[in-house]
Amino acid sequence: MAEAEGQTLRLQVANARAQDAGRGIARLGHAALTQLGLREGDVVEIVGKRHTAAIAVGPYEEDEGLNLVRLDGLQRVNAGTASGDHVEIRAAEIRPATRIVVAPAQKNIRLQGSGEALRRTLFRRPLVSGDVISTSTQSRAAPDPRIPPELRPYLEGPTYGLQEIRLVVVSTQPRGIVFVAEGTEIELRPLFEEPKDGRRADVTYDDIGGLGDTVDQIREMVELPLRHPELFQRLGIDPPKGVLLHGPPGTGKTRLARAVANETEARFFHIAGPEIMGSRYGESEQRLREVFQEAAQNAPSIIFIDEIDSIAPKREQVTGEVERRIVAQLLTLMDGLEPRQNVVVIGATNRRDAIDEALRRPGRFDREIIIGVPDQPGRREILGIHTRGMPLAEDVDLDEVARTTYGFVGADLGALAREAAMDAVRRILPGVNLREGIPAEVLEGLSVRRDDFLSAMKR
Ligand code: ADP
Repeated sequence: MAEAEGQTLRLQVANARAQDAGRGIARLGHAALTQLGLREGDVVEIVGKRHTAAIAVGPYEEDEGLNLVRLDGLQRVNAGTASGDHVEIRAAEIRPATRIVVAPAQKNIRLQGSGEALRRTLFRRPLVSGDVISTSTQSRAAPDPRIPPELRPYLEGPTYGLQEIRLVVVSTQPRGIVFVAEGTEIELRPLFEEPKDGRRADVTYDDIGGLGDTVDQIREMVELPLRHPELFQRLGIDPPKGVLLHGPPGTGKTRLARAVANETEARFFHIAGPEIMGSRYGESEQRLREVFQEAAQNAPSIIFIDEIDSIAPKREQVTGEVERRIVAQLLTLMDGLEPRQNVVVIGATNRRDAIDEALRRPGRFDREIIIGVPDQPGRREILGIHTRGMPLAEDVDLDEVARTTYGFVGADLGALAREAAMDAVRRILPGVNLREGIPAEVLEGLSVRRDDFLSAMKR
């Protein structure tokens, strides 16, 4: 039973489905809605370590009767919670915003123009200062049949630009929970601003497609020990220190490791295997020692070693003195990691058999997760992620695109979506200097068509 305290419910957090990601909705059971005195479309406040707000919508069929609230990755980050945790939910006191200030929450984006287009996209969206929000809205090309028709106007704003953009809400007037209304003035700050409280929402589990239960596996191996070390202590078992992700390039290994770090609120340290090699005598080992030390000092931490085969190749294959020393250093550092230090090392490779066996002994990289090339449903999921917030024309059938992209990995599908969008731009704006960016207003009315995907595929 959920404990009701006045008008507050404690509900367990579960992940939203991919198609709900970025829309600012929270799904809860009808019983919970009734207890809170709410109807679908009303706004709820969600309180974890931080608080945020969302539009309440009824549950997925199979969730009816469960004390769950489904939140997407951004909402989990904004509320300072994770799937499996409990949050408090109550009816929000909400007022129209007179003014909000937003900035890109990602480094590769420059915001230009007036806030008018963004106001239309975010119309009715509840916000709290500090939130990281997405510009993705309900796709009109593929409306979600589970969303009741009377709610569609809340969720169907025009898309903003050509691809999903993540924004940080720098401030709101008034403060508290506000929604974007007719009269809301929106100030765009052009350049990246770091979200508050170190919250990082560049990648969450919502941004990884086609991996099926791999995400659950890595959550169990990495997130659980980092978030609940006491569980392992109580049971007297050592949590895993090292996990090996094995799969072809571009399948999402780096993205997955980063998502786990973000959702766990762990620090993320990235070591590029080939880069760390080829330094001067002793420098590589020095660098490894520094990373491990910094990770321990800032725990919980994840150390991600990309292309680990390049720094830890089989010793018999190695003639180089350097490699031998680096392997030895890595082994020493991993052996020296104490469970209570709360550091997990994730290694990625596409050549599992090329790795020094000593690294795969118990207490080192003794867990392995295979990340394969996505199948057709997987490709469809990934395409959904990369076209989120994209103004797709009605003739675009992502199932068809998924069918015709056999062998494509996530990186290829991401590139395909970007290329298709660029084609749409080229088609409508000959002569525009793409480097200078295109004002948002001009982009409105633009759509990405089936042809754009077809011609992008030919390249
Ligand atoms: P890897 O580490 O396996 O080489 P990355 O995680 O660096 O691959 O993926 C590169 C890019 O490709 C990502 O930033 C993302 O845009 C896209 N991508 C790869 N795999 C996926 C996936 N499973 N779901 C969504 N996007 C993906």
